[in-house]
Amino acid sequence: MRKSLIALAVVALLLAVALAQRHRILVYAVALQGVPALSEPEDEGPGVRWHDDYFTVQALDERTFAIGEPRYAQQNYSYLVVGAERAVLFDAGPGVRDIRPVARSLTDRPITFIPSHFHYDHVGNEISFDRVAVIDLPYLRARAPDGRLRLAFEEHLGVAEGIEAPTLEVDEWLAPGSQIDLGDRTLQVLYTPGHTEDSISLLDREASYLFTGDFIYLGPLYAFMPNSGMGDYLQGAGTVLSSSAPETRVFGAHRVVPPGAPELAIDDVADLDAALRAIRAGELAGAGLYPVIYPVNARLELYAEPSWLQDWTPRHPDLAPDTDSRAVGSALSSPPAGTAGHY
Ligand SMILES: [Zn+2]
Repeated sequence: MRKSLIALAVVALLLAVALAQRHRILVYAVALQGVPALSEPEDEGPGVRWHDDYFTVQALDERTFAIGEPRYAQQNYSYLVVGAERAVLFDAGPGVRDIRPVARSLTDRPITFIPSHFHYDHVGNEISFDRVAVIDLPYLRARAPDGRLRLAFEEHLGVAEGIEAPTLEVDEWLAPGSQIDLGDRTLQVLYTPGHTEDSISLLDREASYLFTGDFIYLGPLYAFMPNSGMGDYLQGAGTVLSSSAPETRVFGAHRVVPPGAPELAIDDVADLDAALRAIRAGELAGAGLYPVIYPVNARLELYAEPSWLQDWTPRHPDLAPDTDSRAVGSALSSPPAGTAGHY
């Protein structure tokens, strides 16, 4: 009797440890598969040119470019947005090749690198950029009093492909909701967590582009990463929907098949928002055990943890565009001029 009790306790303990360490187990399981080989180049359709034998360039207009890595297993897309005075490179891929010469070939303006989030397939890793800007979240700032932000295991996940977490030399902290001035062009920083706690999107209101990183792209959306959050995802979707015009073109950071950059629509974000609400209400069934795969629409699926592990409490609800407190605030005083909604 006592022996079987001890055995039961050991099994329970092991299960508890496995549960607590599930994200690490997952990452190391991926690492066991080894680094994926580059695929053969495929036809990328009209409007896409090969920069060399690895990168592709697709002009969305004469000052906005999708830089693709279609031969890399995760088929990454980074975006170069050029203004009169400076340019922004939104994501830099996994650093299998150096993206800087590609960006340099498209503009002579100073380039600021902004990661959509800190996963290894977006931060360029060993590439060091002249100028780096990241989302201004209190817990990140606290870790980098000297501007040197060492990425944590859970934020970076480079172990999956044997890549060490880099330290970012941060020149600029981007407040959620703030505008990045490129000269004659501005990008608004939208805090769009969900895939990770540190995820942002960039909105070019005038050109009607939204660059979303891994918040939404053409492929399975991952909401089961170590710092993913279902409540965060819902907050991010709400922020996009309340900030973007319906006709906005949406560009994500991955795709599954050619040709060209992964382009979606605001309707896809609305479908994601609806799916998240349905999951929270227990009205949308998923398939599989871990991750659970929920349908979003004809072309999108959301991979999440099972419902009993889903966390619907947003981590930084104060960073959502102001709705409740605006109602309260406006009754007391009008907001100062120039603050187009605070985040
Ligand atoms: Zn990614």
